[in-house]
Amino acid sequence: IKRKHSGKDLTIFSEMTALAQRNNAVNLSQGFPDYEVDDRLKKLLAEGTEKNFNQYAPMSGLPVLVENLITFNQTRKIPISLFKENITISPGATYAIYTALAAIVNFGDEVIVLEPSYDSYVPAIEMNGGLPVFVSLKNDFEVDFDMLKNAISEKTKAIIINSPHNPSGKIWKKYDWDQLASIIDSTEIIVISDEVYDILTYDENEFYSAFHHPKLRERCFSIFSFGKMFHITGWKVGYILASEELTLAYRRVHQYLSFSVNSPSQYALAKYLEIFDAEENQKNMQQKRDFFLNEFKNLPFSLKEKAEAGYFQVLGYENISNISDKEFAIWLTEQAKVATIPLSAFYHEETNTGMIRFCFAKKEETIADAASKIKNFLG
Ligand code: PMP
Ligand code: GLN
Repeated sequence: IKRKHSGKDLTIFSEMTALAQRNNAVNLSQGFPDYEVDDRLKKLLAEGTEKNFNQYAPMSGLPVLVENLITFNQTRKIPISLFKENITISPGATYAIYTALAAIVNFGDEVIVLEPSYDSYVPAIEMNGGLPVFVSLKNDFEVDFDMLKNAISEKTKAIIINSPHNPSGKIWKKYDWDQLASIIDSTEIIVISDEVYDILTYDENEFYSAFHHPKLRERCFSIFSFGKMFHITGWKVGYILASEELTLAYRRVHQYLSFSVNSPSQYALAKYLEIFDAEENQKNMQQKRDFFLNEFKNLPFSLKEKAEAGYFQVLGYENISNISDKEFAIWLTEQAKVATIPLSAFYHEETNTGMIRFCFAKKEETIADAASKIKNFLG
């Protein structure tokens, strides 16, 4: 059967998790928590079925969830004001990115991707007949706006942004959004902004959504995931914000893909939003990042950029080895029994970045176990 995209047969996340399991290794590769889910959320899910939210939800989302998302976004540190015409609930963020692309990309359209980038973007562009155009981020994972400007052509339909960024944890600052807005001001380019780590920001860093920006709001899709927000990656529910016009285009496709999203989880998520403490969630995650940095600080890895947000920390291993990052990640899993993700997995061309990504969304004992395994192995 003809391949429809240039992605792998098996994603790096499936590959490294399977390798971790085969080697009985601590799995800091794929981004999922190993700590308990809030009991209240578990109870609300059961309540959802008991209260008979067992049939199709409306195509755009369960009204109570949409309402509560309007309130949640209105009460953010930097508020986003929304109407229900701007929100669609989706079966996860990956699906929303795909569907947004399906809604706007025509055969031969170009879509700009900033590398390193999350692995689903390029296959999603290609499966919709689009052509990815790559722009490399700088060494510190900042955007080179001159390069971005040069990558734009008459065929550019969209640009995919990811902030906070996976794998680096970098956040787009107001300055970055202003730069982007001015570059695309005279074009019709649409911004697809993957913002799944929106509420997990650390230190003094603030999250800015594409939807916050007055010049981008009318021409962007902003995509969020409850998986990362509430640490329930297996629930696969998210939401997408867009202008009324873009939302209509999105729903025109969505209604023929999944049509709607799991009803009992939508009920549970809506009710949980009413009691959720975003500040405490943020504090807990920052504590995990700091615990990770502390446990790893005496190991011979190099820290280039401290994660500003998200689930991941990127480290260099040039003081340990000069083999390729993929070989290094396999070696570390098989020998030291700690699984990570090689950064080359976020690039379309074969490359060696000399860096690997660790997931710190784990129990402290898991992080400590990983550090001590590496310490014992390296001696
Ligand atoms: N985008 C990025 C940057 C991610 O790291 C992930 C993984 N959570 C996703 C999208 C996918 O999210 P979901 O599981 O909701 O599809
Ligand atoms: N977002 C997760 C990560 O970056 C992986 C999701 C997946 O397995 N596709 O690790």
